[in-house]
Amino acid sequence: MALVLAGYLASSAPAAGAFGTIDSAGQHREHERITRASLSCSAAVGSGPACLEAASIDVLAGHNREFGGVGAPDSDEVFDPAAHCDGADFLEGGYPRTRAEATAALLDCVGHLRMRLGEAVVDAAALLDDDGQVVEDEVDLESDCRGTEATETRAKCATLVAFGRVLHGVQDFYSHSNWADEADPTRPIGADNPPGLGLPAPSPVLDLRSDTPPDVPPALSTGCFVLRDEVPGVGECEGRVTHAALNKDNGLIDPDTGGATDPTTPRGMVGDDFARAVAGAIEETRRQWRDLRAELAVRYGEDDASVMTCALTHDDPVDDCRDRGWSRVLIGGLSGAAVLAVLLVVHARRRRPA
Ligand SMILES: [Zn+2]
Repeated sequence: MALVLAGYLASSAPAAGAFGTIDSAGQHREHERITRASLSCSAAVGSGPACLEAASIDVLAGHNREFGGVGAPDSDEVFDPAAHCDGADFLEGGYPRTRAEATAALLDCVGHLRMRLGEAVVDAAALLDDDGQVVEDEVDLESDCRGTEATETRAKCATLVAFGRVLHGVQDFYSHSNWADEADPTRPIGADNPPGLGLPAPSPVLDLRSDTPPDVPPALSTGCFVLRDEVPGVGECEGRVTHAALNKDNGLIDPDTGGATDPTTPRGMVGDDFARAVAGAIEETRRQWRDLRAELAVRYGEDDASVMTCALTHDDPVDDCRDRGWSRVLIGGLSGAAVLAVLLVVHARRRRPA
């Protein structure tokens, strides 16, 4: 019974929870498509040299029925508001919650995502052996990666799943908050139509490399979320800005170009709010990928970080990333040979008669 219930919750609740993960119930795999448009080598726009090849982006973005790293929070963190940046709702002028409460909820989300980024950095260590070489078993993608750390031991899977959870949260921030959007100009401002901030991405609120609390704009709001996600809010969300009122979760996203059309949620249909949320999520996804690589360099040094990035992005890293690892071994070997040569010369001079 518990399993049936868990299955039911996992399959039904995300319908209202976030940018979509599945391809039904009004969702069109929005997280997957945003992630592909941002980081896939096959995407048409600016994916750059550190783009992910086909099988590797599948692990991060999900494919077919696999949730992938970016979808993982919709399978086992559905009701954790920190995983989706929910519950940081606030409206100026007589509101059931204080600004401090809303900010605390937002900082829960930031803290949660910092924790996930840290997990990805730690998990990456096992990609390489002591010589800085890619470990074949750790990058094997013959079978699909499992979404939870308890059952997944391959370093590439664990790293990309933890990082995918980061991406899920930061993408939700643009859909679930008023950071980048605008209010409906035809209706008065209120809990059913909070102000939009129209701010650009990436957001300083989502600086996950820092360990200090970010500055939060006083009018920033996300939505209160309960299973009965409605406008006006019910139960715990009564009188509050709800996820239903503010989210821009659903519409069609082109995984090649990131183009966003056909929004279906009320806030998403205001002006170009859906396209703004998607564009912000793509920009932010790329920033977080740069930041993960920067953290790998801080933790493990530039050389190992570059092999780790190669291992995470290439589908055949054992062959493709060997040169990078060996160049380090080679440099190490050459400097060892140079030291040896100097010692031999010194030794030879000593033996020379005075
Ligand atoms: Zn979500």
